[in-house]
Parts: sequence; structure tokens; C-alpha cells
Amino acid sequence: MITIAIANQKGGVGKTTTAINIATAMAATGWRTLLVDLDPQGNASTGMGVAAADREGSSYDILVDEVPLAECVHETTIPGLDIVPATVDLSGAEVELVSVEDRTARLRTALSAHAGHDICFIDCPPSLGLLTLNALGAADTLLVPLQCEFFALEGLSQLLQTVERVQQRFNPDLGIVGVVLTMFDRRNRLTDQVADDVRDCLGNLVFEAVIPRNVRLSEAPSHGLPALVYDHACAGSRAYIALARELIGRLPERRKAA
Ligand code: ADP
Ligand code: MG
Repeated sequence: MITIAIANQKGGVGKTTTAINIATAMAATGWRTLLVDLDPQGNASTGMGVAAADREGSSYDILVDEVPLAECVHETTIPGLDIVPATVDLSGAEVELVSVEDRTARLRTALSAHAGHDICFIDCPPSLGLLTLNALGAADTLLVPLQCEFFALEGLSQLLQTVERVQQRFNPDLGIVGVVLTMFDRRNRLTDQVADDVRDCLGNLVFEAVIPRNVRLSEAPSHGLPALVYDHACAGSRAYIALARELIGRLPERRKAA
């Protein structure tokens, strides 16, 4: 299984939207896909239609009580896409784990013992705390959604510093599969300027696929559906399909077989 953390310590940049829709696109392509919701807000769980009352067996249980991952995997309405949901207790996990020795390795331990999925996406919370560190410790690689706004690059450099620290301390093989520009608005000149700056600075690390600002993407979660199911032909869905295609091209060859 290849594990991809979707992280950016800024809130509202499109992490969850990206996690849900790229996971759906991968499942549609025949990859047995697992989505791990690691944000106490549980937006990925809600967006996938998992009601708060149906989240028995959650990412909290895996991290804090070391419940086997298989017991926390829930099917979604999408064939080939399963989810480990998040509950509000997860907000306490950072504190509960503080004195635990393997506190940054809990998720890695759980995922490394897991079989049955080809690819796993981890939707991270908007911080660089213990939850995100668990995701970075467990991941083979990182996918960074970046909103084209002023200071986007400053935030990114902070994230890259954290990645370096994680590489030095507990996950030397952690890679960065790419940066995806989100909520792109063609009519906004600042957006264009920031996109150019980001591409100048990061070159090929930036995916060609750009996710446009698209109201269908923001409507879909309230229906408990990925945009790719809610409206598969909208510009946002098409962009996520293009992103998935590009992502597959960047994954190591041996992992591609579904
Ligand atoms: P994060 O997980 O980084 O906090 P979200 O994916 O939850 O970000 O996105 C923040 C808000 O913006 C949500 O309400 C979401 O529906 C909306 N949103 C995300 N991506 C887009 C987009 N490309 N176009 C329009 N709205 C978007
Ligand atoms: Mg989110």
C-alpha cells in the first residue's frame, strides 16, 4: 500500500476537498482506496456521508487505544473506497499522546500492519501538531494543496521545514509527490501572479492540473457525496480527475497495479 498524507497547516486551503475527490477518482480507477480522516472536525467523514452516530471505530481509537485498523475501516457508498472516520474525541488525542513514547509512530504502526488496500490518503488537520506528525510519519509521500493567495509560499516553507525535521528524526523516506493549486480563479490577477511565483519557485513539483474555484465542489459535502459523484462533469470534478491521472503517473511503477 502506498500512503499519501494531504497536508498544509493552513485551514481552508482545500485539503479535505482534495482528499475526498482524489480518493474517489482513484477508487473509480480500480485502486482499492482507504481514506483516513485525521482532522477532529471530521469534515472528510461528513463529506463522505458517514454520520457522527456511525463512527464507532475511528482514527482516535487507532491512535490512542491502539485498536487494530481493520476494526475502524468503514465502507462508503463508493465502491472500492473505505474510510476511517474521525470523531471529536480526536481533538483530545494530541494531549493524551503527549507522554506516550511512540506518539508520532502510532499511525505508521497501524498502517504498516494493514493489508487490503492499494492506496491510502490521510486528510490532515490544519496544524503541525502530533496528528499531522503521525500522518507524516506514516506516509510514503506528501501531497500539498496550496491556495493561490498572498503568503502561500511563506506557509509552504514552514511545512517544508517540518518535512525535513520528520525526515531527519523518524521517516527518512518521506517524499513530496506534488503541490496542487486549489481554488484557482482565472479572473483574479493576484491568483495568477501567485500561481506564477509558485511555479517559478517549485517547478515540476507543482501539478499541471489546477483545481478551479467551483461552487459544485463546495456544495457536494452537504449532500454527503464527493463532487465526483454529486456532479461528475463539473469543472471541479474534471480537474480532480486530471489530478488523479497525473498522480498515478508520479507513483512508483511497482505500486501502480491495482
Ligand atoms: P481544508 O480541509 O484545507 O480546511 P476544505 O477542503 O475543507 O479545506 O475547503 C475549505 C472550504 O472551501 C470548504 O467549504 C470547501 O467546500 C470549499 N472549497 C474547497 N475547494 C474549493 C474549490 N476548488 N472551489 C470552491 N470551494 C472550495
Ligand atoms: Mg479539512
